Amino acid sequence: MDISTTTASPDRTRTFRRMSIYRFIALALLPTVLLLALVYWYIDSNLQEIKTAAESTNEVHLPGILKNQRTLINIESLRRYVETVYNASDIGVRRDALINALALATESVFEANSRFVEHAASARSLLHSLDAIKNRSDQARKDLARATDIFTRATARLGGVYAGEDDARKPETLLGYCAKVRSARGAVPRILAQCATLTESRESMEAARQRYEQADMEARELWKRFDDLLRQLSDLASSKEAEMTYEAMEHISLAAGRAHFVFYLSGALVLLILCVFILVLHRHVLFPLTLASRSLRRIRDGGSVEAPPPVRVRELQDMLNILPVLSKHVTDLSARSGLLEREKDRFRSLSLVDGLTGVGNRRHFDACLARSDRSRPLALLMLDVDMFKLYNDTYGHLAGDNALIAVARSMLAELHDSVDQVFRYGGEEFCALLPGASAATATAVAERLRKRIRGLRLRHESSSVAPFLTVSIGVALRGADDPTSAAELVEQADKALYQAKTSGRDRVCLYNGAEPPSSVPSAS
Ligand code: GH3
Ligand code: MG
Ligand code: MG
Repeated sequence: MDISTTTASPDRTRTFRRMSIYRFIALALLPTVLLLALVYWYIDSNLQEIKTAAESTNEVHLPGILKNQRTLINIESLRRYVETVYNASDIGVRRDALINALALATESVFEANSRFVEHAASARSLLHSLDAIKNRSDQARKDLARATDIFTRATARLGGVYAGEDDARKPETLLGYCAKVRSARGAVPRILAQCATLTESRESMEAARQRYEQADMEARELWKRFDDLLRQLSDLASSKEAEMTYEAMEHISLAAGRAHFVFYLSGALVLLILCVFILVLHRHVLFPLTLASRSLRRIRDGGSVEAPPPVRVRELQDMLNILPVLSKHVTDLSARSGLLEREKDRFRSLSLVDGLTGVGNRRHFDACLARSDRSRPLALLMLDVDMFKLYNDTYGHLAGDNALIAVARSMLAELHDSVDQVFRYGGEEFCALLPGASAATATAVAERLRKRIRGLRLRHESSSVAPFLTVSIGVALRGADDPTSAAELVEQADKALYQAKTSGRDRVCLYNGAEPPSSVPSAS
């Protein structure tokens, strides 16, 4: 079979560029593989980014946060010590708090974070200034207490001397009184001295109060500056690492979000590609396969197959192209096989027919006798042409053949019943099988047959029986369910025929079992 000549028409194939099935599958799967590789790379790089960010948060930022936490605690302690320095009235308590605050400012608070070192100097100087101011404030408070004490005692003494008015013990009244005493002539020196003490102590009191208030104000100012400084330090300590951690977390979140999005997007794309792949697979592989399967079924059922449509896969195209040719070959083969069957039937029937006379031959006779129905009676007629050798000798073999044909036709004409069968047993001998026939019927048929052949009036001058061609017939019968074999039945018919021959020919004899076959009474 020449496949190359069976390709589809050029118009139908022009649209496709053929490729092998391996290339087709590889090309169909390539986008999915590339996309998956891209997605794998992208998600992997994002995960790597997340890992790096998480590790740096864990290794760098978290220890930094813990460190700053300690710094914040130190700053808070520093604030409490400075508060004590600011508030404590006891000099010892304040001294201890100052020492602790200086120690913290110098070491703990700032050693934790190098970025705060420049603040250490200002914190220390503020602390020293605060301490100095608090000392001044203490001194002023002491001076005020002392001046107040002197003033109170002076007021009491002078009040005892001056008793002219109701509010004589009030300092303003006494100061007014002293002013009058000093301007008066002849004032008592003791009173003047007491007035001088009152006035001086009053002035000292005022001066001490002013110093105290000044120091207090400065201390308040300083405390505010210190408070600002500590707040700045707190902010600095708490915000920087937290900001970096927040940034890292933001980074992780962004990378995770990107990976998440790409994961779902790629899933959707893979699904889409899969759908397209299935469609392409259906169009270029599954559909041609279904078509091939349908065509093969049609070929099997003896139908014809049309020219295939163009497909992209070369192997499938080749397969589809073969199918119409295959169909034609199968049709041809089945036609030839039908012819052969008919020939076979003809030869089979020829093998059962006698070539000269056209009746059944010896093989056919044996077969029919062997498969005859044993449940029914059967009559066998064995016919032999009388003195046929002489006929041949007298008239020649060709005339002899014609005489045999005439005998056969007579038998066929006489045994017209479809169930009766006529055979040439051999040479000039013929047989007939009469299923269901009784002895009377069989002998009657045989007698009619004998007469019909004699009635042909074929001249036989050499015959000693009659001037015409005659036949002798032996008849044998097998009853229903009779165990007599085919060979025995033939032998019995042969015996009856022999009897007919020996008793003068041109007659019918019936086989009668053990007794010699009886001659059928002849009508002529
Ligand atoms: P009988 O009456 O005793 O039967 O004598 P017969 O001459 O018929 O018997 P025999 O057996 O001596 O001769 C049979 C002859 O039949 C011999 C043979 O030449 C002839 N014969 C057999 N077959 C054919 C045939 O096909 N064609 C022709 N023409 N003759 C045949
Ligand atoms: Mg014979
Ligand atoms: Mg004979």
